[in-house]
Amino acid sequence: SSAAPAMAEVAMAAQVPPDEDGDECLTQYRHLLSPDLLEGQVAFITGGGSGIGFRIAEIFMRHGCRTVIASRNLQRVAEASKKLVAATGQQCLPLSMDVRQPQTIAAAVDEALKEFKRIDILINGAAGNFLCPASALSFNAFKTVIDIDTLGTFNTSKVVFEKYFRDHGGVIVNITATLSYRGQALQVHAGAAKAAIDAMTKHLAVEWGPNNIRVNSLAPGPISGTEGFRRLGGKFAEKSNQFSVIPLQRAGNKTEIAHSTLYLASPLSSYVTGTTLVVDGGSWLTSPNSFSALMGIASSSAK
Ligand code: NAP
Repeated sequence: SSAAPAMAEVAMAAQVPPDEDGDECLTQYRHLLSPDLLEGQVAFITGGGSGIGFRIAEIFMRHGCRTVIASRNLQRVAEASKKLVAATGQQCLPLSMDVRQPQTIAAAVDEALKEFKRIDILINGAAGNFLCPASALSFNAFKTVIDIDTLGTFNTSKVVFEKYFRDHGGVIVNITATLSYRGQALQVHAGAAKAAIDAMTKHLAVEWGPNNIRVNSLAPGPISGTEGFRRLGGKFAEKSNQFSVIPLQRAGNKTEIAHSTLYLASPLSSYVTGTTLVVDGGSWLTSPNSFSALMGIASSSAK
């Protein structure tokens, strides 16, 4: 329509980079930053076999980085690695580990160092989440989310610190969430777990700064084409036009999260540590947080 601005009139800064649904590589990519931004570096990415972590691996590899993608399911990371290597021509080592089991992390980090001789970047992306009111949440379900998200982030950070970052420096980016900012309904488990990680980001930034280690969090809003988005009622929100309450009027995409992660992981942010970068289109400021409305989304998305 004539009301919609023609493509040429849209400000460059407002352009949304393309994304693909599911765990597939981008069919087109235009570099906004130098393709050698991360040349020679190695990134260790937990949860790198799917969703946001997969796209972070791809975007880093498109900027010259070699990657290690690690999660519990070896088949998942092995298949992801094949796609990533085919799309980018960079090396990607898939490894199986459970962030709740420090011995498995230690073995994976040893394997990564044996292969690449260095780790420059750690992305803590592994997490588990679902919608559930506190009254229906089992003691064990709450504990599991804390175990994977919070303890998993600490465990992996500590292993990488001891085996490499202590002596060589490095960059850590923890993928968190905005859930606790306004006490998001049905999310006490994940909100508490991610808030603890944001606290950990500050503590470790202070203690490890002298070792030339930067530690930051990145808090995504609703990101389309992810398991999290599907489970947390994103499709329902899309259909019911709930994105109109987000300042930028839409969900984010995985490429946008990967670009913001690239900023935090690269020397572009060389003086940034101990902070949380919120990448949510302004969502947490304005999105509804009604217990009863969210209960409706939870039961409809479970069907
Ligand atoms: P996802 O595809 O489900 O990614 C989670 C990853 O964590 C999976 O690859 C999973 O692989 C891995 N994982 C789970 N438990 C693990 C364990 N015990 N040890 C090692 N790896 C484990 O989800 P996503 O939606 O892309 O989310 C990625 C990150 O962004 C998460 O930290 C999430 O909280 C955050 N986030 C997402 C959104 C969103 O809209 N999607 C919004 C805010 C924040 P295995 O099953 O193979 O272990």
